[in-house]
Amino acid sequence: MNPHVIALDQGTTSSRAIVFDASGRIVSLAQHPFPQIYPHPGWVEHDPMTILYTQMDSLSEAFRRSGLPREDIAAIGITNQRETTIVWDKATGRPVYNAIVWQCRRTAPLCEQLRQEGWEEKVREKTGLLIDAYFSGTKLRWILDNVPGARERAERGELLFGTVDTWLIWNLTGGKAHVTDYSNACRTMLFNINTLEWDRELCEALRIPLCMLPKVVSNSEEYGTLTAHIMGLDELQGVPICGAAGDQQAALLGQGCLFPGEAKNTYGTGCFAVMNTGAVRPVSRNGLLSCVAWGVGGKVDYCLEGSVFNAGSTVQWMRDELHLIQSAEETQTLAESVEDNGGVYLVSAFTGLGAPHWDMYARGAIVGLTRGTTRAHIARAGLEGIAYQVTDLVRAMEQDAGAPMQILRVDGGASVNRFLMQFQADILRCPIDRPAMVETTALGAAFLAGLYAGVWSNMTDIIRIRESNCIFRPKMDAQLARDYVDRWHRAVERAKAWEQ
Ligand code: ADP
Repeated sequence: MNPHVIALDQGTTSSRAIVFDASGRIVSLAQHPFPQIYPHPGWVEHDPMTILYTQMDSLSEAFRRSGLPREDIAAIGITNQRETTIVWDKATGRPVYNAIVWQCRRTAPLCEQLRQEGWEEKVREKTGLLIDAYFSGTKLRWILDNVPGARERAERGELLFGTVDTWLIWNLTGGKAHVTDYSNACRTMLFNINTLEWDRELCEALRIPLCMLPKVVSNSEEYGTLTAHIMGLDELQGVPICGAAGDQQAALLGQGCLFPGEAKNTYGTGCFAVMNTGAVRPVSRNGLLSCVAWGVGGKVDYCLEGSVFNAGSTVQWMRDELHLIQSAEETQTLAESVEDNGGVYLVSAFTGLGAPHWDMYARGAIVGLTRGTTRAHIARAGLEGIAYQVTDLVRAMEQDAGAPMQILRVDGGASVNRFLMQFQADILRCPIDRPAMVETTALGAAFLAGLYAGVWSNMTDIIRIRESNCIFRPKMDAQLARDYVDRWHRAVERAKAWEQ
């Protein structure tokens, strides 16, 4: 027996499956993108059946490509886009509406109403979250309010709610398991992260019947087994599904951040920074979110989370809208072709600024232009602006956690950019550690499943599995770095409160 684990990585734009061996190496991979549905400006939906089918196709393809015999597949783990909300008929499995995606802003007015009714403090205290359309609670309420008959049917116990982990597990187990894990539950705005239970008061406030909510389970235990009558997956029948975590928490684990103070940042379209805070439920004074990282073997770890709304998207903007560059990689060559930013700062507040600035009315700004400014300076300022925003976020985390960051582990599409990583180390004043295997999210999910299935025996095994590819250390003079950060903050002030 040569045990392997398959991770299902259900993301916002594609469903993927990756087969890992016991040393955490990728054996095979399959991926299927799927369409985004935009019914109105600011609304985003997915077809739940498409999510399911693309995920099942990826699973069977990845397994086939691995060339492994069935008995070598020890377990399946799941990681997923968080907050995305699905409601379906318990008897037929048919969704009553499309999945409302985390990015969807349709419930912003309802959130405003909740704020006006004074729920903010209670929501923060109970769930660790801010009231925002991002989280599942108001999306679920919207479906109950807007799909004809949905509320009555939900109250009669005929409908089930789930985030994407729940939807996949329910379907893959042939409707036997209706569960969600702590890391997904804590993003619904319905889950009390202190008591680790659905919160009755919040469910009542949002008029969500408790009977439609999944059972909350740990991140590493058997939820059920893959059932035979799923097309194309006959061979995998009986494989236990025994690990799940939302994408950011899975990445935190995949990066080996097991201990308080350890953190990762993902440089994708936006940036997601997460810091492990251990057994202590964190309280943020800087507008960061408090979440459950995972619960394994009866022990729950918490984390702090914050995001930069526009990171890699700044690079896309420079490429697609400004036509300043032809490819994302070109930003590195351009940035390295000049000695410094020439005094130019680019604040990519295209959709406002998140933690710790929290200014929804901020808009993008390029300041410090002179007649000598070249496109290289602007490209460089674009990359530097990402690093500055991450630095602001990490400083907020350090304040909340009461300890300085020792090392920041990184992943995501833009983490391949050498200039960006070095500048990040220079400004943040701590080493930046990029792993050899960048599929940290999938690895985290595989690890949770493999841990239960006995492929790995201990949480700390993840530390052995993860290998560094490159460590970027601060090289810039510390005073110069401080001066740059001061200038950056002057630029941020100019971008703030722009839109009325
Ligand atoms: P997501 O998961 O959010 O779709 P990815 O992790 O796939 O994002 O990263 C894609 C992002 O990374 C894009 O916004 C792209 O502009 C950026 N990116 C990719 N390669 C580079 C690079 N070499 N330098 C800077 N940014 C890059």
